[in-house]
Amino acid sequence: MSDNYITISPIKEVENPKELSLKILKWLQSNEIIENVLSDCIMTMEHKGYKPGNKHINAIGYDENILRLQVCGLEIKTEREVFNAGAFTPFTKLECPNCKKNRFEGITPQDFYTENCTQEQLNRFDTVFPEFGKWSNNQKASLTCPHCSITSNLTDYKTDNSIAFSNLGFTFWNWPDLKEEFLTALKSEIGTDIVRMNGHL
Ligand SMILES: [Zn+2]
Repeated sequence: MSDNYITISPIKEVENPKELSLKILKWLQSNEIIENVLSDCIMTMEHKGYKPGNKHINAIGYDENILRLQVCGLEIKTEREVFNAGAFTPFTKLECPNCKKNRFEGITPQDFYTENCTQEQLNRFDTVFPEFGKWSNNQKASLTCPHCSITSNLTDYKTDNSIAFSNLGFTFWNWPDLKEEFLTALKSEIGTDIVRMNGHL
């Protein structure tokens, strides 16, 4: 069985990710969206998460009895990373801040999945991942645009919000889609624009 997740991140880095995460944690717990104690309920066994609370149904549209699942908790991360990077493909938009062209322009799903891309096209894609790694390690990360040849900071590139360059992330493992009103309330607690990323492993 595959596991689905929804990750919510601020659209960029926040100043005090740990402090802010504790504030959100308290808010979620006081609304009984999650339990008060950590347990083994997320994808990794290295960390623990928070199981759905008595009123978690208030955050989701309908009851899927997620408590029956081993992996059903909330995972909170407070370190810099490219959130949802595992879902990054050449069909994720990465728009150059200088010429506004998509780095992956011209790469088709058919060519990519049948391994018919040119070396130049593959290079455009492969060169991104080391920069993701650098950025996550607090090093300078930049990309040179294949269209205008200008080098810009990685985080100045515009994406289509299927990834987020942030230092705070809330991943709900195997939760059904979150209610819009819950997301609006969460956004206002976080205090910045947020990105919702769906994916599966
Ligand atoms: Zn460019």
